[in-house]
Amino acid sequence: MKIPLAKPEITIADRKAVIEVLKGSDLSLGPKVQAFEKQIARYIGTKYAVAVSSGTAALHLIMKALNIKKGDEVITTPFSFIASTNCILYEKAKPVFVDIESETLNIDPEKIETKITKKTKAILGVDIFGHPADWPALKKIAKKYNLYLIEDSAEALGSELKGKKCGTFGIAGIFSFYPNKQIVGGEGGVIVTNNQKLAYLCRSLRNQGRRLEKEKWLEHVRLGFNYRLTDIQCSLLISQLKRINRILRKRMKIASLYEKKLKRLAGIQLPIVKSGVKMSWFVYVVRLNEKYSPRERDLLIKKLAQRGIQTRAYFPPIHLQPFYQKMFGYKRGDFPVCEKIADRTIALPFYHQLKEKEINFIVQNFKRILKNVKA
Ligand SMILES: *Cc1c(COP(=O)(O)O)cnc(C)c1O
Repeated sequence: MKIPLAKPEITIADRKAVIEVLKGSDLSLGPKVQAFEKQIARYIGTKYAVAVSSGTAALHLIMKALNIKKGDEVITTPFSFIASTNCILYEKAKPVFVDIESETLNIDPEKIETKITKKTKAILGVDIFGHPADWPALKKIAKKYNLYLIEDSAEALGSELKGKKCGTFGIAGIFSFYPNKQIVGGEGGVIVTNNQKLAYLCRSLRNQGRRLEKEKWLEHVRLGFNYRLTDIQCSLLISQLKRINRILRKRMKIASLYEKKLKRLAGIQLPIVKSGVKMSWFVYVVRLNEKYSPRERDLLIKKLAQRGIQTRAYFPPIHLQPFYQKMFGYKRGDFPVCEKIADRTIALPFYHQLKEKEINFIVQNFKRILKNVKA
């Protein structure tokens, strides 16, 4: 048996939707892009959505549109995919990391205020693994210090906190449609916001900084990018968004099967879902106890791979990535909660077509190897 970490689900209807676009000549900036923007905005509950070429591009455009620049500081989490911090560097601003809370693995609001300076412009929170950050607490701090609040919800499409969807808590949020995400476009991303000016700027910036009102042929009023998303991708995304509730239910089912089968196993900690949270599961990440070393975790990953089961250490801390260490002088010990957890996480295979029989195979092997991994 060979079980990958993630796998996109492409149905016959999805394929048909793509082929439909290929029969016409609107391959980019056409009706499918507009339709997708309308539908995702409705699903999330924002006034505006701007589709772009990736989640990273979405984050970058928000930085640019908010005029975050050299000399500015942005507070963010070191426990994330690297894109949530790189976007700050793209505009030459300085990322300021704040350690995470050990339950949700999201930025710890209690540790933020001591990091705020005159240069702080924004707080960029991430809904890690699909679990909402503590947005009410983050909002309070942002308001008190007059900071922008930005939401990287790349992993949290459909997650809710107290009935409010992720992506709607700050001035703008983003989602990603990379093949391991809840819905996929091959590549793709979107900015969601209720702020008209920000939506306008992102729309112009994604298309080479064009003037959008009273459009004159090829008139560029600002330095922009080519961050456009194609109609081919948007057609695929529309097709998947149609079944989003079914997709999220399937993923929920898989998470509860893992929980049921692993909850009595000693030596590990399963994902925690706080009350008031509706999870859109992105990955299923188990944490090993402190009696296991990072080396033993790595050995577990290797042995599982030998059985055909792909697992991964999610996420290596951003501040310990070689170029961040070099640029900012970060070292081990700087963000101890993040490091201690990152050293012992293991993401199990997780995608919505995963069968119970495969989950049994994964769990059996996981249990057996975990027992033997301590030399
Ligand atoms: C996937 C992801 C992104 C970036 O999305 P891309 O579409 O791959 O550029 C950003 N932040 C987080 C937390 C992600 O998981």
